[in-house]
Amino acid sequence: MINPIRERLILALDVDSKEEALKLVAELHDVVGYFKIGMQLYYSCGNELIKEVHAMGGKIFLDLKLHDIPNTVYHAAKVISRQGVEMTNFHAGGGKEMLSKAVSGLSEGSANPPLALAVTVLTSLDDANLSNLGISTSVSETVANWADLAKASGCNGVVCSPQEISLVKERCGQDFLTVTPGIRPAWSVKNDQKRITTPYDALAQGGDYIVIGRPIRTAENPREAALKIVEEMAQGYAAFQKKN
Ligand code: C5P
Repeated sequence: MINPIRERLILALDVDSKEEALKLVAELHDVVGYFKIGMQLYYSCGNELIKEVHAMGGKIFLDLKLHDIPNTVYHAAKVISRQGVEMTNFHAGGGKEMLSKAVSGLSEGSANPPLALAVTVLTSLDDANLSNLGISTSVSETVANWADLAKASGCNGVVCSPQEISLVKERCGQDFLTVTPGIRPAWSVKNDQKRITTPYDALAQGGDYIVIGRPIRTAENPREAALKIVEEMAQGYAAFQKKN
């Protein structure tokens, strides 16, 4: 089990500058589990930021969604692992060999490698988009197939929509991690997220980590918002424990 519950909350640092990012880390490092550094912030600040977030006591989910030929991803994963980040990801669509090489690169890069996650079907895609890409299975069938592939390749879990938590858990087992964005507490605005799930429901369905950005970052009091979300997550987790 991942303990305490706040370890399961990942804050999306979707900002451009080091100053803005570090201000959030200083304010929230003891109330959230991880800081998600995505392409926007990484391409702007690079590895320097990783060092600073670590120095301030924050853990990092480096969300770069690598997708290339297996050999290139292997070497990139090795370098990422050396940076000491705690979690990182690769597109499942890169295939089994690419995912396996990614996992090998991470283990060879550090004695304490990051968790390896496979990104399944992006939540911006629907069945029609998959069909345009020549994929004849539905979104949920594709997620199930790609979760199997991720597990067989040695990944620790997947990034998926909260709607797919139960499907992935049934397919790959409770220990196979799910990391889900698209989360909104009932009290916050939805922004552009459409198919949303609450922090309570994500944990109640057995989800492991949730990614939240704007409901915390733009709150009048981000610390209070994060604490409130962790409380809801704890209630959801308790409901899950009761059911299982
Ligand atoms: O601000 P918000 O809570 O919507 O941020 C969600 C984060 O999760 C963003 O960094 C976004 O890019 C990411 N994400 C998402 N939906 C996906 C995949 C990633 O919202 N399907």
